[in-house]
Amino acid sequence: MSDPDCLFCKIVAEEVPAEVVHVTERTVAFRDINPQAPTHVLVVPRDHYENAAALAAGDPAASAELVTAAAAIATAEGHEDYRLVFNTGAGVGQTVFHAHLHVLAGRSMTWPPG
Ligand code: AMP
Ligand code: ZN
Repeated sequence: MSDPDCLFCKIVAEEVPAEVVHVTERTVAFRDINPQAPTHVLVVPRDHYENAAALAAGDPAASAELVTAAAAIATAEGHEDYRLVFNTGAGVGQTVFHAHLHVLAGRSMTWPPG
């Protein structure tokens, strides 16, 4: 289940390089190319789903594995506090339409987000 035109499918397939920091059976995690915090990692399912809701409906186990992977990454990078973000829809800033969980940590963060 991959989309030949999808950037994150190409990263999962190792056709596009990325700094991979964590892998599981269903997920791959790599550093964001434009980091917004000292730790900014994207955790993606190996299979292509357009967004987090489509992933949860189609593969709940992978959906849960994204969050478990995100927690492991934050811990491995020494962060007790971290923020997880699923942008869903262009109107809130989604630019890559392959589900991905942002893991952000290592600086203070305001709430609510802008
Ligand atoms: P979003 O705006 O939620 O769709 O997030 C997409 C993220 O992908 C952005 O934070 C980008 O900086 C990041 N990104 C785009 N291209 C790459 C790439 N080749 N490798 C790593 N991260 C990328
Ligand atoms: Zn994809």
